[in-house]
Parts: sequence; C-alpha cells; structure tokens
Amino acid sequence: MSKAGLAAVRGMNDVLPAEIGAWQHLERITRELFAAYGYEELRVPMVEQTTLFKRSIGEFTDIVEKEMFTFTEADGESLTLRPEATAGIARAAITNGLLRGARLKLWTSGPMFRHERPQAGRYRQFTQIDVEALGFAGPDIDIEMIAMTARLWRQLGITRVQLKLNSLGTPDARKAYREHLVTYFTQHAAALDADSQRRLGGNPLRILDSKNPAMQAVVSGAPLLTEHLDAESRAHFDALCATLAAMNIPYVIDPRLVRGLDYYSRTVFEWVTDALGSQNAICSGGRYDGLIDQLGGEHTPAIGFAMGVERVVALLRQGGQEFPRPAPHVYVVASGDRAMQVGLALVESLRDQHAALRFEMNQGGGNFKAQFRRADRSGAPLALVLGDNELERGVAALKPLRQEGGQQEVPLAELAARIPAILTTLNG
Ligand code: ATP
Ligand code: MG
Repeated sequence: MSKAGLAAVRGMNDVLPAEIGAWQHLERITRELFAAYGYEELRVPMVEQTTLFKRSIGEFTDIVEKEMFTFTEADGESLTLRPEATAGIARAAITNGLLRGARLKLWTSGPMFRHERPQAGRYRQFTQIDVEALGFAGPDIDIEMIAMTARLWRQLGITRVQLKLNSLGTPDARKAYREHLVTYFTQHAAALDADSQRRLGGNPLRILDSKNPAMQAVVSGAPLLTEHLDAESRAHFDALCATLAAMNIPYVIDPRLVRGLDYYSRTVFEWVTDALGSQNAICSGGRYDGLIDQLGGEHTPAIGFAMGVERVVALLRQGGQEFPRPAPHVYVVASGDRAMQVGLALVESLRDQHAALRFEMNQGGGNFKAQFRRADRSGAPLALVLGDNELERGVAALKPLRQEGGQQEVPLAELAARIPAILTTLNG
C-alpha cells in the first residue's frame, strides 16, 4: 500500500509504458489478421443485465456461481461486469437486429471481470480478444477459425503451444451422456471432492474439468463423451479433424475437454502452452449453435473463441522479443527563451509537412549539455539545434547523434525539404 493509503484493487493491474509495446504489437497483428479473414470489429458495453450471463453461461458454471461482479441499481435491476464477451455479442446481434439470416464475422476486445483467486496469469480484471462467427454451421468455419489462430501464433513467433480438440455433440447427445456420467460418478461418490459432489447435481460434465490432482484417477475412469456422440456431430468432428490434418495443423483430441461455459455444442478447442505454469490456456473457444435461440433470437449456428491477452503477452515477453517505444527521428535542442519560442513554432510547421516523422522537442529547459544528454537518450538519429547564434543568422544546426561528424547548418526555410534526405543517409 502506498503512503496515502491507496492501493490498486486486488487482481487488477496497471499496464505500464515499459510493457505496453508487447500489447500494442499483439493488438496490431490481430487487427490486421482479423481484417484479412473478413472479421469486423464490434464494441459492446462492459456491463450487461445479470440475467444475460445466467441464461447464456449457465447457472451451474464457476463463472455464474462464484465469479461475477454483480451490483444492484437503485431501481432494483441487477447488473454484472462482463465476465466474457460472447454473451454481450449475442445480445447485441439480437437487440440491434443484425441477424435476420445474415452471416456475421465479428471481433472485439477489452477487459473482462471475474472474481477469482488472483495468481500469475489469473486476474480479476483481465483482457480478452474475442472472435465470433454467427450464422455458420461449419465445419468449414471451425477449420478456418482454428487455422487463423495457428497463423496468429506463427506471426507472433509463439511456438510452445498445442491445440486440443473435442466435440460436445448436440444437447440431446449430451443429455444422454450426462446420465452415464451421473451413474458413474454416483458409483464413485466417495472419491469425489466437495466441488465435484456439488457439480454432480447441477453440472456433472464440469467434474471432468477438475483441476484437483486427487480427482484424476476417478476422472480418467469416467465414460467418454466421444463414445456417445450423435452421428451428425461425429461427421462434423471427423471432417474437422481430417481437414486440419490435411492442412498440417497438429492437434490432440482431448476427450475430457469440456470448457467451463454451458452454451457450447459440437466443436470445442483450446490452445495450451507449457511455458506459463498452471494457467496454461491461452485461447479457448467452441461452437454454440443453441445460444442465440436460447436468448430469444432466431436460430443461428455460431462459433467463437477468446484469447487471454495477459497470458499471450507473457509468452511474447518470455520469448525475449523487445517492443521498444519508437525513437524520435529528430530531437530538437533549443537553448534560450527566444530559441524555445521559435523552435516550438518551427517544429509544428515541420510536423505539418512530415506527418510520418517523429519530432521530439526538448521540454523543461536545461543548458545545451543537459539537452544533448536527453537527445542521446531519446535514441533519435538527428538533433536539430537552435541557439541565439543560429537564430541571428536564420539557420539551425543539424547534428547526427549516432555517428561522428557531418554537422551542417541549414537555413530555417530549407529544413523541411532537407531533413528527410539527411535522415535517409543516417539510416543507411
Ligand atoms: P481457465 O480454465 O484458465 O479458468 P476458462 O476456461 O475460464 O480458463 P475462458 O472463459 O474460456 O477461460 O476464457 C478464454 C481465455 O481467457 C482463457 O483461455 C484464458 O487465456 C483467459 N482467461 C480466463 N480467465 C482468466 C483470468 N481470470 N485471468 C486471465 N486470463 C483469463
Ligand atoms: Mg475459469
């Protein structure tokens, strides 16, 4: 806690300038990649009615049972900070009348909120980049979406990732499977931990997702959903797997991958890494063919995924890549009040003429020596120097900072025309 008694809220982090380069790199790459695959950006509110999440994510999920930041308005309406983005996007598609048989390829990003126990890679405010394709029955879109994520890791230079796949079948197939599971786990009730006993009544599939090592033996003996798939889901899944294999996108089928949200059907997938300790999922998604009609919209098969930005950024930074702030092209050194005044106006006019060049004007005064120290630290290849002496003659000095010699005086009126060529010689 700071002197003033102020502290950041538990599980909520600042992203400091030293870290922002990796974030912006990821944002830039994903923005371009999604556009190249035909996805458009949509922005939805951070707060929705609590019922939206209860109805979509499911009453017996970890998120709804214990992770939501919920508050009550003066009029009694219950609102919740979004724990994920799919529900809000589905709601937005319905309430804005975007569906009507249309196909939508959408992405969004921003903070999500879950009241979890904070630890490395698990926060209460965290960031997701979220992609959704609405109105596509697949499996072609499932394959393309997975290929897009595989391309993303390649573009980011992330190699320690593995794709896990499973099919959850249709809700009917799942209902039948659920009975097999309940029978099995009831026979082994003594081996279940408290969480799993609770889930046995509400959401027995979630027992398969247990992270408790003591539960692994009983979980590994449980019947598998893949053995109870309906024929159409089986065909969908076989097509998905065969095409991914033909496209040389490696995957492993994980029959216990069930995902924590209720709305999934058929394809579910997760990209995991062995480089981040126990918070190993960096990108998870799946098909949710029933969600939109369940929320009152028209039947719209759909698939989407969400990426945990903090975890992907951690991988990027671990990879040793640096994402430095771009250095200015020109650092402007101006000594004396008059030089400062002239300099400010001069730099504005240079900015007007060269929008792509970065000019950093020395701010906060200082003698020539101090200003040159800052100019060196800025990383700029070139200093533009204005002193009384230069002003009297209507010139500025241009001084290379990263190589010896070559200082020259240039009339103020010619600076805009000369600077680009000088920068080119310095870079070359
Ligand atoms: P986990 O099993 O790690 O709790 P999840 O199944 O709850 O993940 P999703 O709801 O599918 O996760 O969210 C998609 C992605 O968002 C995850 O793969 C992960 O990268 C990230 N994520 C989820 N919860 C958090 C959190 N509390 N802090 C940071 N990132 C998170
Ligand atoms: Mg979770």
